[in-house]
Amino acid sequence: MSAMSSLPPFDPADPIALDTLLSEDEIAVRASVRQLCADKVDPFIAEWFEAGAIPDIRGLAKELGSLGLLGMHLEGYGCAGMSAVDYGLACLELEATDSGLRSLVSVQGSLAMYAIWQWGSEEQKQEWLSRMAAGEAIGCFGLTEPDHGSDPASMRTRARRDGAGPDADWILDGRKMWITNAPVADVAVVWAHTEDGIRGFVVPTSTPGFSAPEIKHKMSLRASVTGEIVLDGVRLPADAVFPEVRGLKGPLSCLNEARFGIVWGAMGAARSAIESALTYSREREQFGKPIGGFQLTQQKLADMSLEYNKGTLLAIHLGRLKDAGRLRPEQVSYGKLNNVREAIEICRTARTILGANGISLEYPVIRHANNLESVLTYEGTVEMHTLVIGQALTGVAAFR
Ligand SMILES: Cc1cc2nc3c(=O)[nH]c(=O)nc-3n(C[C@H](O)[C@H](O)[C@H](O)COP(=O)(O)OP(=O)(O)OC[C@H]3O[C@@H](n4cnc5c(N)ncnc54)[C@H](O)[C@@H]3O)c2cc1C
Repeated sequence: MSAMSSLPPFDPADPIALDTLLSEDEIAVRASVRQLCADKVDPFIAEWFEAGAIPDIRGLAKELGSLGLLGMHLEGYGCAGMSAVDYGLACLELEATDSGLRSLVSVQGSLAMYAIWQWGSEEQKQEWLSRMAAGEAIGCFGLTEPDHGSDPASMRTRARRDGAGPDADWILDGRKMWITNAPVADVAVVWAHTEDGIRGFVVPTSTPGFSAPEIKHKMSLRASVTGEIVLDGVRLPADAVFPEVRGLKGPLSCLNEARFGIVWGAMGAARSAIESALTYSREREQFGKPIGGFQLTQQKLADMSLEYNKGTLLAIHLGRLKDAGRLRPEQVSYGKLNNVREAIEICRTARTILGANGISLEYPVIRHANNLESVLTYEGTVEMHTLVIGQALTGVAAFR
């Protein structure tokens, strides 16, 4: 008997047997998120994307909360306390449905909740975290401004004390731009300059002077609500500020969490595009045979599969490092830069395999490709992550 006959069969859905790197519990977490997406979002997502709206975002947030997906990698305060790899697998499944769905979960859990969990006072945690974990309160994270994106240290939003002493109220003035979930949020984590450096504020969105008009006409991430934040003399009590953290360390620590989710999520969009292209290539016939039988199509499929599996392997490796408490921010940059760049290439190539059908919302491919244009830019652009890696390698910062 040859050695080959004792090998498990080749599985096109898992060609290099990456599932052997996951535990049964991790595979079960993945299956439950996949099921939620299949039941609650997949049948409607193309419609939501086309309409540029999620009709019942509060209901959806509660569904996600009931499965423990909001702040799922945080401990206590009603959070599920799962591992980094569990969280990554969830992000992959959510983004296989749509980057907008994964963005909703990332912004809630890794930006807004993480900021409060990591930097908030006990009172701030008690007030917000369990409601946010249940999806009863939606959060957003305001760092970017109309004139300051990659360079947030130059932000113009200001917080000043109204009076002397530690009990004086804060007054916030400024504008934030491109803020996911802002128009539907109950609470905003807002970063502002103070005389003591950049500090974070927990702002209930019902506070007078706070408004969050929706940004319309997006051609990407259409199944996600994006807005401005306008802060016009917003008066907050003295204890609305994160007590300890100063400087960019605060927001950057949160972005690092969210970027980790993107390392995985981007591979979800890629997987969905590959599945679509593979099925299509078997069914679509031209010149008397399936287009999957032409060498040029096979080369595309082979390259897409190669990059998807390399990217997923990288995600699992970084996840294991994170669970061991050893993941550095530069390493997250490797994952974010590589996986989003490869995912968008995979989606664009998949689009060519589908021919004209590739531009239709009947298939997920153009939706994923368009969504990834945002993912390429937010949470640090391709260029910024390249410069982070360049600095780590050379010891010289080329940002300015
Ligand atoms: C759909 C969507 C949702 C978002 N959600 C949020 C959110 O929830 N919260 C939030 O705070 N922000 C959010 N953002 C904003 C996002 O983080 C910023 O768009 C991003 O940081 C880039 O900033 P910018 O768009 O101002 O581009 P800029 O910083 O103006 O950059 C423009 C171009 O110049 C390049 N560039 C800039 N500086 C350098 C340099 N030193 N060297 C080389 N190239 C450089 C950039 O890489 C880019 O290619 C979101 C964005 C989008 C599109």
